Amino acid sequence: MRITTDYYEIDDLLSADQLLIRQSIRDFVSKELEPPIEDCAQAHTEIPDLMKKLGKAGALGSFIPSAYGGAGLDQLSYGLIMQELEMGDSAIRSAASVQSSLVMYPIFAFGSEEQKRKFLPKLASGELVGSFGLTEPNHGSDPAGMETRLTKDGKGYRLNGSKLWITNAPTCDVAVVWARDDSKKVRGVLVERGMDGFSTPETLHKWSLRASRTGELVFDELYISEENILPEVNSMRGPLSCLNSARYGISWGAIGAAIDCYQTALSYSLIANNLENPLLPFNFSKRNWQKC
Ligand SMILES: Cc1cc2nc3c(=O)[nH]c(=O)nc-3n(C[C@H](O)[C@H](O)[C@H](O)COP(=O)(O)OP(=O)(O)OC[C@H]3O[C@@H](n4cnc5c(N)ncnc54)[C@H](O)[C@@H]3O)c2cc1C
Repeated sequence: MRITTDYYEIDDLLSADQLLIRQSIRDFVSKELEPPIEDCAQAHTEIPDLMKKLGKAGALGSFIPSAYGGAGLDQLSYGLIMQELEMGDSAIRSAASVQSSLVMYPIFAFGSEEQKRKFLPKLASGELVGSFGLTEPNHGSDPAGMETRLTKDGKGYRLNGSKLWITNAPTCDVAVVWARDDSKKVRGVLVERGMDGFSTPETLHKWSLRASRTGELVFDELYISEENILPEVNSMRGPLSCLNSARYGISWGAIGAAIDCYQTALSYSLIANNLENPLLPFNFSKRNWQKC
């Protein structure tokens, strides 16, 4: 079991359930994800079956109600899960953040009952991998400038444009994509792997987040039927509320990264001075040292 310091007595503010959730994710990360992470980062590839492993551990869409496959947990529990995943590696937390906050959340908040039943349980179990397409080649910090277009075509629509720097693009089964319709309103579109006119080239040679796969989402006259449009949103509120949820989890992740760096530095200094490590069996490793 990995032990951490608690100088500010944060643990006293957590319920027994929250402490249990944190411990179970901590054990899962140290047993299943930390051993392969260094090799995956060096090879610039993801941990095999990462999403299924995260799903089995209950780390995906924890705040989604159980009726749709989630755990129905509070936001503090979601934050603790993100903290623990980031202690393993930022790439692991990124995968879970995207799946939970950027894919499951918009389907839950803005999707139809059919869309929720079709996608959420499989996203919660990790059977499906999701991605979120907002950033475009000419629009990163200013997503309102988006150029991707959803044009009416008979009973459905045509989607044209591209998104880049998209986490999980090369492996995603479903992408939540944001585009402007004929009346310039921002619509959420569920693009599924295998649709004609949809491709996901990978972005290689990243210098960071190397155990996370990143790529583009390219739409070329892609036909979208009405059932793949999120019905409950038609403005920037859609993508921005997803970013709010993701940023909340990411801020917990930053705490996880800080805890890991502190432990690594402490372990290193104790080992270097032949002193007993109070955090044993947390072991100093080359990978952890590199993170500092
Ligand atoms: C590994 C990785 C994964 C990602 N995953 C996703 C994903 O899953 N989905 C997705 O949609 N996007 C994703 N992104 C994209 C990310 O959201 C964008 O990189 C981000 O929004 C910034 O956009 P940009 O890269 O175009 O930078 P720019 O907008 O070009 O910004 C460059 C710099 O200029 C500064 N800047 C920009 N505008 C202003 C201004 N008005 N005033 C002052 N300073 C300014 C910025 O702070 C920044 O320092 C990912 C990016 C990375 C690197």
